[in-house]
Amino acid sequence: MSLLQIAEPNQSANPHEHQYALGIDLGTTRSMVAVVRSGKATLIDAEGATDSVSDTLLPSVVYYGNTHNTNGSTHPLVGQAALAHFESDPSNTIISAKRFMGRSSKDIKFSHPYRLKSSTTNDKEMPSFVTEQGEISPVAVSAEILRTLAQRAIKALPNGSIQGAVITVPAYFDEAQRQATKDAAKLAGLNVLRLLNEPTAAAVAYGLDRTDTESSANKLDEKIYLIYDLGGGTFDVSLLKMNDGVFEVLATGGNSALGGDDMDRLIMGWLLKQAGLAPADLSAQQRTHIARQAERYKQQLTQNDTVEVAIEVADTSWQGQLSSSDLAQIIEPITRRTVATCEQVMRDAGIGIEQLDEIIMVGGSTRMPVIQQVVAQFFGKSPLAHLDPDQVVALGAAQVADQLIRQDKSNNVLLLDVTPLSLGLETMGGLVEVIIPRNTPIPVAKKQTFTTYQDGQTGMVIHVVQGERDTVEHNRSLGRFELYGIPPMKAGLARIEVTFDIDANGQLSVSALEATSGVHSDIKITPSYGLSDEQQEQLLRAGFEHAAEDKLARSLLEAKLEAEREILALQSALQEFHTLLTEQETQALQQAMQQLNTAINQVSSTKIANTDIANNNDDLHMLKSDIEAKQAQLKPLSDNFAARIMDLSVKQSLSGTSTEDWAQ
Ligand code: ADP
Ligand code: MG
Repeated sequence: MSLLQIAEPNQSANPHEHQYALGIDLGTTRSMVAVVRSGKATLIDAEGATDSVSDTLLPSVVYYGNTHNTNGSTHPLVGQAALAHFESDPSNTIISAKRFMGRSSKDIKFSHPYRLKSSTTNDKEMPSFVTEQGEISPVAVSAEILRTLAQRAIKALPNGSIQGAVITVPAYFDEAQRQATKDAAKLAGLNVLRLLNEPTAAAVAYGLDRTDTESSANKLDEKIYLIYDLGGGTFDVSLLKMNDGVFEVLATGGNSALGGDDMDRLIMGWLLKQAGLAPADLSAQQRTHIARQAERYKQQLTQNDTVEVAIEVADTSWQGQLSSSDLAQIIEPITRRTVATCEQVMRDAGIGIEQLDEIIMVGGSTRMPVIQQVVAQFFGKSPLAHLDPDQVVALGAAQVADQLIRQDKSNNVLLLDVTPLSLGLETMGGLVEVIIPRNTPIPVAKKQTFTTYQDGQTGMVIHVVQGERDTVEHNRSLGRFELYGIPPMKAGLARIEVTFDIDANGQLSVSALEATSGVHSDIKITPSYGLSDEQQEQLLRAGFEHAAEDKLARSLLEAKLEAEREILALQSALQEFHTLLTEQETQALQQAMQQLNTAINQVSSTKIANTDIANNNDDLHMLKSDIEAKQAQLKPLSDNFAARIMDLSVKQSLSGTSTEDWAQ
């Protein structure tokens, strides 16, 4: 018989004896938290229980409407309590914050029922939701969800025993989206041990990170897995390779607007058709209501072969049956697209169906027998689906979290993630030179050599971009820094080695070294959305080794870049919205833009770099104040234009958006 240790609930007798780390699946529609206890990963439910858990899924929903505390203050509601407001008050019920994470208003092309407010100064910043409780950023919404999950864990685990959390993100998340997720965790008071790709977490939950001793004796034994993750709003496919104890993501793909919600809409369409109605006959609220009903029928068909269905809306009522085979037909457009995406990802990676060792099912929608059948048929083998597809990501994350805090050496498997998007540099003419291609396993470091393009050039701007397009303007700018102090020499003689280094957390560091002289400069990249001016300044400062004499040059360059961005933004706004201005207003605006452009053209980065800065302070001052003066003249005109565009988009979003298509 062993001795029992006596301790108060939630209070370990020796608080430092047991340390725990959380695994958090921060889903688009639902989130959850898990922990490894006594060597086993388990979910934590709303009551803080870890055995015989019941209520483990937290709807990823936060309500910012007019709810009052007993003390009269307003506070957001999270989860089920928030979801209860969705039908009656959709614009204050934020139900898809994950889709807005790290996205600028330009990136947000799907429709949604929210009023967004963008920053007027930084077009890369995430817009906020305008709610009755004020302007709320997507990061703050995610932080509410994370905080609620953390509270569950605090209830479940001894005081002070939580070391941190591994939070999962879709494999395709870019730097900005990952950074936004980390920011949310920080805001929620969580220590992020690591962000982990969702498919990698699922593979860990299925134990595919454990080398089984028999097969690992055979070093050539390489396994390839496909993870099929069909959730509420998104579909993700990932190909993983396990080889010689190393676990690596070969390729990822997916569709960020394909999932269970689309099925619900299709089923709603079918129901309405049976009842002789069209979606246009219904109010937005009625459509939301029927879509929720459709979702219930869909879920019932996971257990049953047929369900009784009834709709009662707009003076029409209809009753009938919905069968599994009806369902298979109704959602065929969705299943077909998921299969096509799998084919595409395999083709990209050069992997044939016959090479796949396992297919792993993840996401609530893969419970559906219809989906499992389609997958089994396409791949010619039954998918792995014996773990709860809702839980696999959180459970796998908890296992990785536990390994991280225990530095588990017994399982010496490396979890390699990949870069979701290519990383590169701006070169002459605004073109992109890719340094680390997309889907490269991390950690990774790559070096490439560049040279100067002008005789006597002593400095160069290194502009780091992310994305797949050939031109800089179509990619995401991550940051820039400058290398100064290159000894003057003939164009093409300097050897500037630029190194991109991504660590295991996905953090990118870029450094530049002029090999003949040894001058060197570097930057740690945090994505440039949402950075304050001070941070941007810091970002630039990081690139400087000759701070004092370069400060002015830097601020001039900054002013120039900012003015250029402003002009570009105005030009594209003019193309799209020129009808909002009168002829005279357009002319005045264009003239002011022209003048600013002339001021900018006085400056070129090579000119700055080539100038002996210390002796030309006055010149640089003049250039800078000229730009600032022209900007000041332009400002009232561009503000007026921006206000008109804002009015228009508010009008459009109030009239044109219906709640049922927010997830398009
Ligand atoms: P996400 O990762 O996008 O947050 P989930 O993986 O939680 O999404 O999946 C949510 C989706 O799964 C919803 O569309 C929901 O209707 C669907 N779903 C959940 N349970 C079932 C079930 N038993 N049968 C069919 N669909 C289900
Ligand atoms: Mg999911």
